[in-house]
Amino acid sequence: MEVQAALGTDLAVVFDECTPFHVDREYTARSTERTHRWLERCLTWHEQHAPNWQLVYGIVQGGVYEDLRTEATEHVASSRVDAIAIGGSLGENKDQMNEVVGWTTARLDRVAPQKPRHLLGIGEIDDLVRGVEQGIDTFDCAMPTRLGRHGMALVPEPAKRWRVDLSQAKWKTSDEPLCDGCPCPACAHGFTRGYLRYLVHANELLAMRLLTQHNLAFVSRVMQRLRQAIIDGRLPDEAAAIRGGILP
Ligand SMILES: [Zn+2]
Repeated sequence: MEVQAALGTDLAVVFDECTPFHVDREYTARSTERTHRWLERCLTWHEQHAPNWQLVYGIVQGGVYEDLRTEATEHVASSRVDAIAIGGSLGENKDQMNEVVGWTTARLDRVAPQKPRHLLGIGEIDDLVRGVEQGIDTFDCAMPTRLGRHGMALVPEPAKRWRVDLSQAKWKTSDEPLCDGCPCPACAHGFTRGYLRYLVHANELLAMRLLTQHNLAFVSRVMQRLRQAIIDGRLPDEAAAIRGGILP
């Protein structure tokens, strides 16, 4: 909390234990209680020392146990936090993640409908779409930058997990752009997949920079579209279009 106050971040996130997937209910229950004690200590410190404009996010834990998640949601929502983050083990696959996140968002609809909601550490394209449908406002994830550092670019191809591996030989002589209509420097300057592959193979830092910028621009465009769709009241259509790989 002290570091976040010193950095002057717009929002501070409380201290918690992010429980791993393979822990039992008893461990998760004890851990969640500890996280709640830390929440109180973090809030007290924040009230006494942090800049008064800095917002505080509480974190809902509780692993994959519905009663613990529900209890944690009510506990965090009724505390003095400005917003709610959902963290910890969300299960072993996407279906279970949706279910676990759904327990919290359903409860938040009743007990704290106005507080912003953040889903911690999630950011694959299909997860962003599903999360927004579940009422999540913000996300954070290392995926776009990590992929960029490994020669991978995000593209509107759901069947290929939204990514293309530019280190592959098949791009060697490709004059295809990464992604039509993308405003990132690589796409805006018309850099080809063949040239980007060359940079990746030469271990040029420029490759990592360009692909990172592209991936962030891609995620940003997806989120922009989802925001606009919410404003226009056509989120289901837009979500279906993005899932189908349609990006303008
Ligand atoms: Zn681009």
